[in-house]
Amino acid sequence: MNFSAITGWIFDMDGTLTMPIHDFSIIRKELQMPEEQEDILMWFHELPAGIYKEKQEILERLELELAHQTKPQQAIHDLLALLSERGCKLGVITRNNKINTEVTLQAAGLAHFFEPESIKTRESAAPKPDPEAVHQLLDLWNLPKGNVVICGDYKHDINAGVAAGIRTIYFNSRNDEAWKVLAECTVHTWDEIIDHLDDQ
Ligand SMILES: [Mg+2]
Repeated sequence: MNFSAITGWIFDMDGTLTMPIHDFSIIRKELQMPEEQEDILMWFHELPAGIYKEKQEILERLELELAHQTKPQQAIHDLLALLSERGCKLGVITRNNKINTEVTLQAAGLAHFFEPESIKTRESAAPKPDPEAVHQLLDLWNLPKGNVVICGDYKHDINAGVAAGIRTIYFNSRNDEAWKVLAECTVHTWDEIIDHLDDQ
């Protein structure tokens, strides 16, 4: 991928901009989520209204506790500084909620890189892999799809990008090859992009 041609950069938040502290095994345990359920938000939609509300509150409390402890990924601050210096549009699409997203980005020292309207949370649009939030950013930025990339550490991030017809970078920080085939490009550290930003 010719990184210098990319003028719109969309990032997943948890595990992509930030170190993965979302300990899903603890979250699953606290929520008493059945083993066979794979996706928290999808499971929530199957629950009766009263239970849904109770589980939602537990999830929000756990997520807020975790948000305050957030650390940025190595080199992400330098990459965002470089991209914003070059005038690139920067955005976030997360399945997290608005308050947690604000706390997380502040705790990680990354909030100032993103305009509030370029941060899409689960209140803004249907959650990834639905491409709705990607379309919202494309409309906001008014950039051609070929000049916009989504970077993420999970299949939902890449699939949202593919569904919207934009470029995709899989951030494989855990050296797990699982979703490499879905993405156009794979990096293991943000330094790899900084080092190759001007390659043709
Ligand atoms: Mg993630």
